[in-house]
Amino acid sequence: MLVNTQENRRYLSGFTGSNAFLVILPQRAYLCTDFRYLEQAALQAPDFEVVQLERPWTKTIGALLTRGSCPVAFESEHLSYDTYVELLRGIPDVEFRPQKGLIEALRMVKDADEVKLLREAIKMTDRGVDFLRSYLKPGLTDQEVALELEFFLRRLGANGPAFSFIVASGTRSSLPHAEPTERRLEVGDLLTIDFGAVYKGYHSDLTRTFVFGEPTAKQRSLYDLVLEAQIAGIEAAQPGVPVAEVDRAARSVIEQRGHGEHFGHSLGHGVGLAIHEGPHLSAECPEVLQPGMVVTVEPGVYIPGFGGVRTEDIILVTTTGNEILSQAPKHSFIL
Ligand code: ZN
Ligand code: ZN
Repeated sequence: MLVNTQENRRYLSGFTGSNAFLVILPQRAYLCTDFRYLEQAALQAPDFEVVQLERPWTKTIGALLTRGSCPVAFESEHLSYDTYVELLRGIPDVEFRPQKGLIEALRMVKDADEVKLLREAIKMTDRGVDFLRSYLKPGLTDQEVALELEFFLRRLGANGPAFSFIVASGTRSSLPHAEPTERRLEVGDLLTIDFGAVYKGYHSDLTRTFVFGEPTAKQRSLYDLVLEAQIAGIEAAQPGVPVAEVDRAARSVIEQRGHGEHFGHSLGHGVGLAIHEGPHLSAECPEVLQPGMVVTVEPGVYIPGFGGVRTEDIILVTTTGNEILSQAPKHSFIL
């Protein structure tokens, strides 16, 4: 198999550089990279034989593949069309077979070391919520909030933000993936903040919605509804349960209250070396929860012109149920 996506390469070998092919043969495994990464690759990937990529790169890979003399799988979801054409042209005597989801399936179930790193990343976002509670005040722009939050996480030791943070105040909170703008926070605003840290490759992902001042009855009832849906989702997330049922458990709470059309995204996603990975907690996903899976549970209700609420936590599926890894309080909705 030929592996060239960054997360899959890292998962299998430990190598974190930006350019490499893993060539995995029945008896041997090679890491082919360019001059810049030779020393790093030898340090990070001791189980792989490091080979320098020559020009054209297909020559180096081709020489290794013909040693395997078997069909070669490639990551059909990720290999670019141009790279595929180069492979066929440069290595005509090898049969390439499309393959998808093989390594992603392995990545869905986390081992103890991975869970440890996830816990570290999640601790940072928990502390981020404490920071937000002391920092947030009317007059700040959404952009300022996103920036200060990122600084805070990086000072804690995060290697970077897990994604571009979502800070959505006022009616903009009805945009599930709003980009922070120069809008200034006002008393009475709903404010949704979705953020995460990367620690040694592993991502955290947390959403909290706040309101400045005393919430209106409608704001509070939406908040309570989303929380109730999230609790139903978390309770349903047991080992052996199809992810579609978990999505349903949370979604039906929101539908029963007439807000089904305002919850248009799936309930959650796996998180690990990538911010979004399998299993996806959605009606369409055929996966079944297994111990070791780490997923977000993040229902939301978004009402155009009014605002939105989302609450997101990360859980670890265990042999007996699940553990909520994120500890940031959810009752402290009012700032
Ligand atoms: Zn999120
Ligand atoms: Zn998420």
